[in-house]
Amino acid sequence: MKLLTFLAITIFSSSSHAMVCDLKSHPDIGNQILKELEANPITCRPNSVHLSFDDGPSPTVTPVILEELKKRQVQASFFITTTNLAPEHPRYKENRDIVLKTMNAGHLIANHGHNHDAYCLRMNHKGETLDEGFTQQEREEQVARSIELLQWSTGGKYQQQIPLLFRFPYGRGAMPSEIELQKMVSKGEIVLKGNTYGEQLAEYRQLSPPLQTLAGSNLSHLGWNHDSNDSSFGVKAPNSEILKSYILKNLKGLCSDPKITKVALFHDIKEMNMTAIPVILDIGKCLGLKFISAQEMAKDKNLNKTGVLIDKQDILIGMTKNIISTLDETKKIGANQCETEIDKSCYSEQYQKRYPHCTGGDSVCFEGKWLSKTDPIIINNCH
Ligand SMILES: [Zn+2]
Repeated sequence: MKLLTFLAITIFSSSSHAMVCDLKSHPDIGNQILKELEANPITCRPNSVHLSFDDGPSPTVTPVILEELKKRQVQASFFITTTNLAPEHPRYKENRDIVLKTMNAGHLIANHGHNHDAYCLRMNHKGETLDEGFTQQEREEQVARSIELLQWSTGGKYQQQIPLLFRFPYGRGAMPSEIELQKMVSKGEIVLKGNTYGEQLAEYRQLSPPLQTLAGSNLSHLGWNHDSNDSSFGVKAPNSEILKSYILKNLKGLCSDPKITKVALFHDIKEMNMTAIPVILDIGKCLGLKFISAQEMAKDKNLNKTGVLIDKQDILIGMTKNIISTLDETKKIGANQCETEIDKSCYSEQYQKRYPHCTGGDSVCFEGKWLSKTDPIIINNCH
């Protein structure tokens, strides 16, 4: 492996090789990044990468990403927020067509739930509660509604896919932060015996009512181990300097840690990804990255060991093993007695400041997320 790493760096450090990188789109930005990499080579290991896109579909962004993936024969996963498919959404017909087109192009249609809310306690890094999470009944209703809309939108083909994946909004329910786990323990909602965060997280995943709800609906959970950090940006694309730095940061992240399949989190509602994804694909390939499908990704058992992929069978086994000793704690987590203070503000990396609820420019901050000012959620709630 050391030899391979050395070769990868050496090849890419050589300018004669660096320039042969085939840039199928956006050669202007791509060439600027190649120059930057020539001047400051990065250490790249030949990792496998699975691209995943959340919160869509977006009539503006998703079709462009589909076209760029098609040019390169790369298969990705699209975690659909199914409020976008419901008849009350003004563009639901268009969104349904995109979902069907995505599936027919060989990508995985995955489930990101109905309303984009936390399935369990969600706190910020300061320890303030952002969302107390759905109750058990709400979780079941949300999962059932999302499956119903995905089935309806795909003529029943959604549930025939392998694997059948779900991703909790914000990852809560499968990927609680250390501070959230501590809060659950300190309130007596859950008993965890482990000493380290890693040990406690593994125990939590065997008890998590949101995960059990998924397993009951035949769904496995896919988190991520590479965050593109596109949530820090607005819906509209930033200027080219910021875009270049975003692409470089992602390439560096995807190239780090050998032998680990990267599950990369992006959002197909962010216009910056219309440019960034093709450049990441082209230069990533030159750097030795291999972009793999959901089916190939699911074969990597390391993803199960690290909890990035939580298989429904493992959830059910965990549930059986723990059901007697943890029944009371489980009920309490389901009740989620949390604080009610909700921080709805959004941080903009572009302007390096925090915006209150319902403010911003082309992008408007709504409940902690940036949305386009033409988004029906903004029109309905912020005017
Ligand atoms: Zn999301």
